[in-house]
Amino acid sequence: MASVDQTIQLIRRTGRDATGQQAAACSPALAKAPWEFDGVLQYGPGSSMGDVIPVGSPRQGAIPAEYQRASTEELHERIRAAKQTLGDRVVILGHFYQRDEIVQHADFLGDSFQLANAAQTVPNAEAIVFCGVHFMAETADILAKPEQAVILPNLAAGCSMADMADIDSVEECWAQLEALYGTEPDADGRVPVIPVTYMNSSAALKGFCGRHGGIVCTSSNAETVLEWAFERGRRVLFFPDQHLGRNTAKKMGVPLERMPMWNPRKPLGGSSGDELLDARVILWHGFCSVHKRFSVEQIEQARAEHPGVRVIVHPECPMPVVDAADEAGSTDYIRKAVAAATEPTTFAIGTEINMVNRLAAEFPQHTIFCLDPVVCPCSTMYRIHPGYLAWVLEGLVAREVLNRIEVPETVAEDARVALERMLDAKPKA
Ligand code: SF4
Repeated sequence: MASVDQTIQLIRRTGRDATGQQAAACSPALAKAPWEFDGVLQYGPGSSMGDVIPVGSPRQGAIPAEYQRASTEELHERIRAAKQTLGDRVVILGHFYQRDEIVQHADFLGDSFQLANAAQTVPNAEAIVFCGVHFMAETADILAKPEQAVILPNLAAGCSMADMADIDSVEECWAQLEALYGTEPDADGRVPVIPVTYMNSSAALKGFCGRHGGIVCTSSNAETVLEWAFERGRRVLFFPDQHLGRNTAKKMGVPLERMPMWNPRKPLGGSSGDELLDARVILWHGFCSVHKRFSVEQIEQARAEHPGVRVIVHPECPMPVVDAADEAGSTDYIRKAVAAATEPTTFAIGTEINMVNRLAAEFPQHTIFCLDPVVCPCSTMYRIHPGYLAWVLEGLVAREVLNRIEVPETVAEDARVALERMLDAKPKA
């Protein structure tokens, strides 16, 4: 099966995919290399290109022309040679949403937290090259040994969802909530509000949660983490992904009217004081532009065209999509569900297209397709191109650490507290 990268190149040239079907990519500019966009303050072509990038976001400087000019085959050969020279000195982590062109060089493939944990299994590696986005490299640095360097091959690989909640806006929100709720625990010892941040957030927000009695969650353990928080607080402030927060709390029986949204540009987040006093979960108004693309109409179309299709979506999708699907779960859940199917099955999957296409190639006994018919990868993940990977690896061969991501220890210390609370949180029996 052609990779997403090859498919996009083909669609741009012919308007058709590898099977000869008419196909569309969400932006023809995806066929260009990321360095053609790195000088510009934007996420680049792809499904988050319409989001507003914070002004202070890291930019990737120009990499040497030899990497920009090299052919695909030459880049792969250089990556392989550098990896061989470095041996155990380096470990390469690849997120499920990365291009196949990158994943083929990864020592570990997984979601962000699996990868941060995987890095801990190689304590002797001097460098951890994280082929993912900025917050993932930060988490790996928080958990890594101080002498290990965590490297993000392209500094412009941020995450538009993580960027929707910045520390200043969250501090301001917290000050308003404290003024409204006070800080005194109730008769059961529960504080007025507990902050919960999704793993897809900056280290500063994880540190905020650590300092304020809060916790981190992933899409795999969000329900367990909310149970933990409700035992300790009357309410939860959940950021940055409104959809994961809403889908999880709804499943736990929290009524929608007790989940007001917090818009940082409005006083009291746009809600009344009474609505906030009655709230169980206050949802930050962030979202993932990749998962926001999935719709109930796509599910209906999949069911009409493929009777018996099993629809699985990620909980970052909007609530109506999760409600209409047969199942919702994290990338790890989706992968395990496909792997566990014993009979040939048709799956329509609502998550990032690189992962869906890889599942289709890995499990040819099943029919697996992406719910969204338009080829549109996560534009931030897509910025990790083999040219950058070759550049940072050859830098390590020359004893030069390029694009190191370092979280200040004052932030990392508090963030570790919030991460450890997550690891200690156990589901109710
Ligand atoms: S898929 Fe969504 S949440 Fe994941 S890195 Fe891309 S923009 Fe961020």
